[in-house]
Amino acid sequence: MQTVTLNNGVEMPILGFGVFQIPDADTEKVVTEAIATGYRLLDTAVSYGNEEAVGAAIAASGVAREDLFVTTKLWIQDSRDGSAEDATKRSFEDSLNRLGLDYLDLYLIHQPFGDYYGEWRAMTDLYRQGLIRAIGVANFYPDRLVDLIEHNEITPAVNQIETHPFFQRAEYQTEMAELGVQIQSWGPFAEGRNNLFADPTLTAIADAHGKSVGQVVLRWLTERGVIAIPKSVRPERMAENFDSLDFTLTDAEMTAIAGLDTGESLFFDHRDPEAVRRLSGRSYN
Ligand code: NDP
Repeated sequence: MQTVTLNNGVEMPILGFGVFQIPDADTEKVVTEAIATGYRLLDTAVSYGNEEAVGAAIAASGVAREDLFVTTKLWIQDSRDGSAEDATKRSFEDSLNRLGLDYLDLYLIHQPFGDYYGEWRAMTDLYRQGLIRAIGVANFYPDRLVDLIEHNEITPAVNQIETHPFFQRAEYQTEMAELGVQIQSWGPFAEGRNNLFADPTLTAIADAHGKSVGQVVLRWLTERGVIAIPKSVRPERMAENFDSLDFTLTDAEMTAIAGLDTGESLFFDHRDPEAVRRLSGRSYN
């Protein structure tokens, strides 16, 4: 598997498997199939409610721990009593226990809300103790990312953000590269929104290569150096998505796909006060 080198030298697979919206009861079976397909990068979060099932699949897989790359994410901590750092360390330990692991490969701040400076300090501590190989963020817009970098010792290794053909983030990817932050796509297929799998531009490119639209989208991301973590509960799609690194898109095809960019989220904008309110009201700890 092709890897990217993070800003601290850690190697991360460019293609992995996401488990958002997979019901807890199905997750062990699905992740077992994903690992058997060849996926080694697994992406979960405390808010997905399926860390324990991911851990059970890992334990039963027989794959050596050092051959896996496991990511989970910290949900927004209640910091009204000023103890985001302690709360983060507790949440981390709970995640690790649910996953049945003794270290994480990547730990992300899931949302840029609340006392994420306190959270970052705690994560920095855990990183320095060797309990996490790399720390990063998700859903950080440029101003928040630069602010975090300017006021802390450690620069996030990764920023996991919505990235797909309809919201491509090319300029932001360049800015992040200058900062030393690796872009990772969430929602590589935009969860099928905008009729992605039947899009005429993507379909024509897929036909030209004898590939599927899903494979074209993943190749477009990985050719750009974007880490992708597609989700599927179906083994045939897991295999199809995994088998997407063996062809090359032409410059003309890359340009055609660039033309699909709307420059806007298909989900919600993390700078929208209503979104901040809605997400901040959720608790998963
Ligand atoms: P995706 O863009 O990966 O889309 C998943 C959907 O596409 C599912 O409905 C799946 O259906 C379908 N699908 C998958 N492969 C194919 C294929 N080859 N052909 C046709 N349909 C296909 O959405 P996600 O939101 O799941 O994003 C991926 C991962 O990113 C998540 O699982 C999670 O790990 C992460 N994420 C992180 C977020 C964050 O805030 N940091 C937010 C959202 C996601 P089926 O399962 O039936 O095959």
